[in-house]
Amino acid sequence: MKKWIAFLRSRPALPFVILFLILLYPDRARPQITEPGNPVLEFTNGRWFDGNVFREKTVYVVNGLISFHSARHFDRVIDLSGGFVVPPFGEAHNHNVEPNKIDALIERYLQHGIFYIKNPNNLPNGRNQVLSKINRSNSIDVTFSNGGFTGIGGHPAEIVQRNIARGLWTESDGDGAFYYAVNSRAEVQEKWVQFLATKPDFVKTYLLYSEEYEQRKDDPKYFGWRGLGPDLLQMIVAKAHASNLRVSTHIESAADFHTALLAGVDEINHMPGFRYRDDVKPHQLSEFEITDSDAKRAAKQGTVVVTTLGGTAKVDPHGKDAALRERWDELNRQNLSVLKRHHVKLALGSDSYREDSVPESAYIDSLHVFDPPSLLNIWCKTTARTIFPLRSVRELREGYEASFLVLSADPLHDFGATQKIRLRVKQGHIIEIHDLPPGSATESGN
Ligand SMILES: [Zn+2]
Repeated sequence: MKKWIAFLRSRPALPFVILFLILLYPDRARPQITEPGNPVLEFTNGRWFDGNVFREKTVYVVNGLISFHSARHFDRVIDLSGGFVVPPFGEAHNHNVEPNKIDALIERYLQHGIFYIKNPNNLPNGRNQVLSKINRSNSIDVTFSNGGFTGIGGHPAEIVQRNIARGLWTESDGDGAFYYAVNSRAEVQEKWVQFLATKPDFVKTYLLYSEEYEQRKDDPKYFGWRGLGPDLLQMIVAKAHASNLRVSTHIESAADFHTALLAGVDEINHMPGFRYRDDVKPHQLSEFEITDSDAKRAAKQGTVVVTTLGGTAKVDPHGKDAALRERWDELNRQNLSVLKRHHVKLALGSDSYREDSVPESAYIDSLHVFDPPSLLNIWCKTTARTIFPLRSVRELREGYEASFLVLSADPLHDFGATQKIRLRVKQGHIIEIHDLPPGSATESGN
């Protein structure tokens, strides 16, 4: 130790000490040089969310990044007049980013303050057709899994069948495009190569009542209601991780939740029971409870759970199924509580083609499991992180991408204020929202 202190005091150590300080405080060391065409913006009188509370700050945008240090010059001052600044929202599960009505869709996402979207199963062709419209500073940023891995005759094969019947798709959009149906290790091996050639951002896999895998596997009654065998999921996870790809797994039952965790998946899509009434055979809600030990394991493994619970809200709480709605809410509340208790990472996704994570956030808010700062962190932070794990988005921090929303009211008092959006900034650019066609978006309240 003494030797170290003597070395640090000596003259030859000086460059090392400086390098160490630069590594420790990279933002302070970075000179403020702006790239041409990138105006320096000063945002005054804003209240900025720090993950817990809003704090009054003057914030600069330099080269599309956030800076809390006063700029030597700025090109424009924008007075936020007391507005509440939050990171943009995410939608961690939606299949609607595809060529069909893409312009209106982008506009609606931006209108709702949702900048980051994850599409966990799409036609690779469809992605290629929209690439020129997305992942730019005036649009949404999207990741795609391309085709998902499932069992033969499993979900989502019936979606393809339906679209062929409607004359929208052809046979070539099925196996090898929208999905890869595998019942053996040899099939996984063969189709994995085809799948990788489509350059996916991540891997989508399917478990549907995997506790009955053998029973459902060849029975035509369960067409569309089966998925991968647990051992094949494990094999896919190993291959994906070897290729630096994260794995998302669709689940239906509490047993699927457990099996997905045992396989070491990175993300669980849906929560047990999210559409339990749709299965071929009837179920009791009590079959869908997440256990403490599974929640503990999910937290330990860093598994992200994407909610998609908004379907419950479609059951009228005052209608003929009011009692069901109450019991279903209770299951969701209980499952979210067990995940919260063990600090499992949650992300918001709707899986609702005509909607997005706005109603999903409203439904979860209505269950009163999370306080407003926690729900805001789930929607902005964890959701963005599971979509873009490597990007400096999701928080209003020094050196992070200057992407944020300015709200006219405090969302910590009324979560509905998350849709009172006055200003949208993405990577340092102010986004202009045009008038949307009637019925294509909910009122944003500004
Ligand atoms: Zn889905």
